[in-house]
Amino acid sequence: MFVVLDGEVSISVPAVDGETKIIAHHRRFEFSGELNLLNSQGSLVDARTVAPSRLLRISRNDLQRLMRAEGEIANLITQATIWRRIGIISEAVGGVVLTGHAEDAETTELQRFLIRNNYPHRIVEAPLEDAALRDDGLSDLQPTLPAVLLSDGRTLHRPTVAELADELGITELPDPHTIYDVIVVGAGPAGLAAAVYAASEGLCTLVIEGTAPGGQAGTSSKIENYLGFPTGISGNRLASRAQLQALKFGVRFAISRDVVSSEQVGGIHKLKLAGGISVCARSVVIASGAQYRKLAVENYGQFENHGIYYAATAMESLLCREREVIVVGGGNSAGQAAVFLSSIAKHVHHLVRGKSLASTMSQYLISRIENSSRITLYTESEIVKLEGGPSLESVAWISRQSGDVTVKPIGSVFVMIGAEPNTGWLFNVVKLDKKGFILTGGTEGFEMTPYATSVPGMFAVGDVRSSSVKRVASAVGEGSVVISDVHRYLADQRNSFAVEPRSALAALRSASAATPSPAET
Ligand SMILES: Cc1cc2nc3c(=O)[nH]c(=O)nc-3n(C[C@H](O)[C@H](O)[C@H](O)COP(=O)(O)OP(=O)(O)OC[C@H]3O[C@@H](n4cnc5c(N)ncnc54)[C@H](O)[C@@H]3O)c2cc1C
Repeated sequence: MFVVLDGEVSISVPAVDGETKIIAHHRRFEFSGELNLLNSQGSLVDARTVAPSRLLRISRNDLQRLMRAEGEIANLITQATIWRRIGIISEAVGGVVLTGHAEDAETTELQRFLIRNNYPHRIVEAPLEDAALRDDGLSDLQPTLPAVLLSDGRTLHRPTVAELADELGITELPDPHTIYDVIVVGAGPAGLAAAVYAASEGLCTLVIEGTAPGGQAGTSSKIENYLGFPTGISGNRLASRAQLQALKFGVRFAISRDVVSSEQVGGIHKLKLAGGISVCARSVVIASGAQYRKLAVENYGQFENHGIYYAATAMESLLCREREVIVVGGGNSAGQAAVFLSSIAKHVHHLVRGKSLASTMSQYLISRIENSSRITLYTESEIVKLEGGPSLESVAWISRQSGDVTVKPIGSVFVMIGAEPNTGWLFNVVKLDKKGFILTGGTEGFEMTPYATSVPGMFAVGDVRSSSVKRVASAVGEGSVVISDVHRYLADQRNSFAVEPRSALAALRSASAATPSPAET
């Protein structure tokens, strides 16, 4: 950060015509910088003195110390970083240029990554003939798209999300020599809450996130049941605010890096990230969430939150009053949804793949479904087509028994075929329930907390935890509350640490050099 003591600094971005456009002037006692004051992203703008000037340069470390010590100043800087980043995004010329084809999956993946990380960018549609080559599977002839033009003039051809994240500084590669007080795995609502509470209470905190902050909630266009937002808030906005809050308190973020394995020696946890880096911490909060199972139907992603829902609460039910809806799934959650929606919707079409509900659903729900004139059960049936734009308008399903296809103008489909926990990296590490969710409430001294896993110093919060309530508010609540357990654990550790952290670290390094991780095998 530069503070202007005397003189003037002008801030400019590249303009569409190849010239530069001045977007701000900083004069006496004003300061430079935007969101990248708080993270490690490179500069998106140019700055130059336009009069004889005297500037005070504040290093990143000093700025962080200042922000921790001076709340008012920290809030002022945080506000400025938000508004300045919004200003740069609205200029739509700063940042990077993504060239590709809108219907190409790689282009969409990069675009989604930039949007979810609020990174300024502009999309340029590639000529159609280029896209046609790729659609025909002749991608070798067009190996260059999608392409990302960086602000320094270099072009990345078909970068992976991780390569792009590294290049833009969205990933802060963690320091392998630091022993963090706490590493939070996953930056959904639970992980972000844990990070904010941990760092604000003085813990040296690293968040590792495989995709982008926000988790499942980040994909929701409007969350209407989160306290304090009477007109709702988009998941992405909620996540960026929370991330900013965490950055303000000094949390480090390693985005687009999955944790692939974990081990513990002498009280120190070593997490290995995709790409090979390892990081160590005294405690770990697992907030890696879950993924709702999805249907394998074309255009499915386009209608998520625009007609395809994973919960049937009063909020979703408002969308289907006096309309026909579809519920998919043979378990109790699907049965409850069908019964609940039948009191609001005009008619519920309930689709299951199995021959009957008997083996998967409670009898009382089966009876209600069978006795309701507002629910029709279709066994051995599957959705085969979704149409509409931008919201879902029409659904076709097939009876595997008769081969008949039914098409109806329906705009709401409730997909309730279960959720899969993101715990692949934890097999043989912590105890899981039979569906793979983490069992908690177990280790000695922590029997009374609902968040301790079977491994001392590892805690689990949010959707990844067995029997958790799958909601944004409960994930945030758990993420906030778990930090008091982490403090208690770290205090116990300090009092009874048998192995010096440094020697534990050395032991971990030599152990892992000899043994391949579960993910590697
Ligand atoms: C479309 C949709 C709409 C929803 N709408 C609502 C709503 O309106 N109201 C409501 O209350 N709830 C809603 N929910 C549910 C709510 O979003 C979840 O309950 C909540 O996000 C759970 O938070 P979490 O932090 O526990 O997990 P998640 O949100 O699942 O976040 C987990 C994070 O961990 C990351 N991760 C996973 N594995 C790894 C790994 N190995 N290494 C690093 N990172 C990893 C993931 O990329 C992800 O970002 C919705 C869910 C969906 C899918």
